[in-house]
Amino acid sequence: MSGKRILIVEDEPSLAEVVSLYLKRAGFQVQAVSDGRQAMVILEKQIPDFVIMDIMLPEVDGLSLTRWLRDRSDVPIIMVTARREEVDRIAGLEMGADDYVVKPFSPQELVSRVRAVLRRVGRDQSGAESDRALSFESIQIDPLTRVVLVNKSEIELTAKEFDMLYLLARHPKQVFTRDQLLERVWGGAEYIDPGTVTVHVRRLREKIESDPSKPEKLLTVWGVGYKFEP
Ligand code: CA
Repeated sequence: MSGKRILIVEDEPSLAEVVSLYLKRAGFQVQAVSDGRQAMVILEKQIPDFVIMDIMLPEVDGLSLTRWLRDRSDVPIIMVTARREEVDRIAGLEMGADDYVVKPFSPQELVSRVRAVLRRVGRDQSGAESDRALSFESIQIDPLTRVVLVNKSEIELTAKEFDMLYLLARHPKQVFTRDQLLERVWGGAEYIDPGTVTVHVRRLREKIESDPSKPEKLLTVWGVGYKFEP
């Protein structure tokens, strides 16, 4: 799980700093922002692998931000709350946070919680959850039989085309960068040409789009990557 990217949204600089330090030492890549608005700008471009979210934030508070993020992504979130905010802790979990820590907390405890959530999420994804069939208006994807229906007719996909389509479609509207796709579809093999992703996207479009030159399902997000639009 090392190398995963964590976004810290925390307006207390000293706390953000110490948490960043511990997470970096644990092998994570860390980015910290100090208000909710800044966090939204970053999250609109790219969803990290993990978010640590303070509740009391300037601009946009952590609860609203969590709800906003949940509409877009199932990225794991740990909320950071002050001791007196019990109501917020419950609200945070209801908004879809995976866990919370209460201030003051030990940074080491936070690192352990992050790891625990990642293990849990990893299990979910490698278990039954990863095998769920997806059904959209004009496209159905069954990971067990690896059959894809477009407008009710079966189409032939290569193994990697299927893996990429399934990954994108499992996270509708979530933008994946080329690097993320390389890592998750090709196992991050470093010798793979990043252009491979572009080629696979083009072939997929030829197979699933009614007009591959005007894609409606597999969209390019300029300068960032690709997303599946249900
Ligand atoms: Ca705060």
